Amino acid sequence: MPRIFCIGRNYLEHIEELSNQRPTEPVIFMKPGSCLTPVGLPITYPAHGNDLQHEVEIVYRVDKFGRFENSMELADQLDGVTIGLDLTLRDAQFELKKKGLPWEKAKAFDGSAPIGKFMPVDKTTRFDNLNFGCRVNGIERQSGNSGLMIFSIAKLLKAISRIWELLPGDLIFTGTPAGVASLEVGDEIEIFSDFTDSFRWSIVE
Ligand code: MG
Repeated sequence: MPRIFCIGRNYLEHIEELSNQRPTEPVIFMKPGSCLTPVGLPITYPAHGNDLQHEVEIVYRVDKFGRFENSMELADQLDGVTIGLDLTLRDAQFELKKKGLPWEKAKAFDGSAPIGKFMPVDKTTRFDNLNFGCRVNGIERQSGNSGLMIFSIAKLLKAISRIWELLPGDLIFTGTPAGVASLEVGDEIEIFSDFTDSFRWSIVE
């Protein structure tokens, strides 16, 4: 199973909507690979919280082993890009943050990483100008552009790989733009971008 690195607080308007501080270095957390929910399976509403929220994010897949340096070409180090959801139990996260405890119960539960199908990354990939977003029951909730990321994918690869040498197949969720909101049982969530198909999941009990 792949390792999943996730980046928090990477879009200014999302930092503001949750009243968080702008970070001076990337906020990194992880989810186990067992969190992945491929297209075609439902999202089960977690039993241990009451405020499940969507965070649509651009997701990259690592191609090469090692540490990333500025001199390297992104297109050589990454082999795929898609969009996914960093599903978050916001009520659980709020309680954990208040107590200074780790976030896993709020962000790394089973099914917390629905993910679309990967598109190849190559020299034509516009890493700093990718549009993406999500709709719930047909209504747009989030839209973003990778150019608004505080830390670019190159900076993220460098920051992550200083601590964890990259492995082929590692996934990197790059942070969510503003507009995060609650999901209910029965909702249908669709994520879309200008570089992939769109992908949808239903929320079930
Ligand atoms: Mg997120």
